[in-house]
Amino acid sequence: MLRLPDFSFRRPRDVAEAAAILAGEGPRAKLVAGGTDLWPKMKRRQMEPAVVIGLRHLKELGEVTGTSGSGVVLGANLTLRQLERDPLLVERYGAVAEAARSISSPPLKTMGTLGGNLCVDTRCFYYDQTYEWRQAIHFCLKKDGDTCWVAPGSRRCWAVSSTDLAPVMLALNARLRLVSSAGQRTVHAAQFYNHDGINYLGKRPDEIVTHVELPPMNGEITSFVKLRRRGSIDFPVLNVAAWIRPARNSRSVEAARIAIGGVTSAPYLSETAANVLIGRQLDADAVRQAAESARLDSRPLDNTDMDFSWRRQMVEVWVRRALEDIARRMS
Ligand SMILES: Cc1cc2nc3c(=O)[nH]c(=O)nc-3n(C[C@H](O)[C@H](O)[C@H](O)COP(=O)(O)OP(=O)(O)OC[C@H]3O[C@@H](n4cnc5c(N)ncnc54)[C@H](O)[C@@H]3O)c2cc1C
Ligand code: SF4
Repeated sequence: MLRLPDFSFRRPRDVAEAAAILAGEGPRAKLVAGGTDLWPKMKRRQMEPAVVIGLRHLKELGEVTGTSGSGVVLGANLTLRQLERDPLLVERYGAVAEAARSISSPPLKTMGTLGGNLCVDTRCFYYDQTYEWRQAIHFCLKKDGDTCWVAPGSRRCWAVSSTDLAPVMLALNARLRLVSSAGQRTVHAAQFYNHDGINYLGKRPDEIVTHVELPPMNGEITSFVKLRRRGSIDFPVLNVAAWIRPARNSRSVEAARIAIGGVTSAPYLSETAANVLIGRQLDADAVRQAAESARLDSRPLDNTDMDFSWRRQMVEVWVRRALEDIARRMS
């Protein structure tokens, strides 16, 4: 049995107190919401915080507010279960509900949160192992070692972004509210991720994700699709979120965003694929060309489940499926 290491647990009264504790403790501290990522990581000694700051009980982070006409604000503590069932999200922000639905398993979705999902650790064969397994290979750059076993000459880590909700937030052009003891700021989801498997978040360690702001939806259509080995539980090895704004007086595409995750250390927008669609009907030809551009744009790495060259081919297939789903709903 894997056991948790010793740590002290802090239960702040509110976000301001959580931010103050985080600022005071510095790198010794980690936040925990649902704990479905953090607790297993601590058991495997991939993370060893001396102090864990609980957020889950903070009711101020647990609401859905606003309307699709004015924009919706999601609290970071909303569980994946709540996101997949919320009628407003299901109706107007379908990709959010669908991505939440696709994550892990029912018990984990009851605990796992939006904030935890957006900050979930990157993954790699050589890292997602027990302490003893990692010790046997002298660890790696991401934790306790000095070599990257995926690219031994590299000084950076190539572990892969594995959050299902992040590509959706990129496709929607959502903004994240970050709170620290120094104040509050908002960042676009596209700026929140770095192409670095260790420093994968574009936020300071003392910042807490408190809310996600979804832009208004006035006729735009979204879709989310995901590739994984076992549909009942596995992390994505590829996910695609698409957002299309149809032109008002015709059936052509006025604006488009296609986001891809599970491929490199950060989810990203494939602008070349989206640009193919602008001003065109979302017909079979446009969909095929956009999907092909997305594949040419992508560089899956050989450090997660399934062969990386096959995953690259699947980028084309999965982008096509996401766009076909939207085309069906536009017609
Ligand atoms: C078997 C299994 C399968 C899984 N499958 C998937 C999957 O298919 N797709 C997927 O996306 N994930 C998957 N996960 C990962 C995880 O369950 C989800 O990503 C979940 O949403 C994480 O949320 P949490 O609240 O439990 O995070 P936690 O474990 O509480 O936290 C995760 C990380 O985020 C940080 N954090 C948490 N809340 C905040 C906040 N508000 N502000 C700043 N930092 C914060 C924590 O410090 C920690 O580093 C899986 C996990 C397991 C164990
Ligand atoms: S990509 Fe390299 S450094 Fe990063 S987790 Fe994998 S082996 Fe370790």
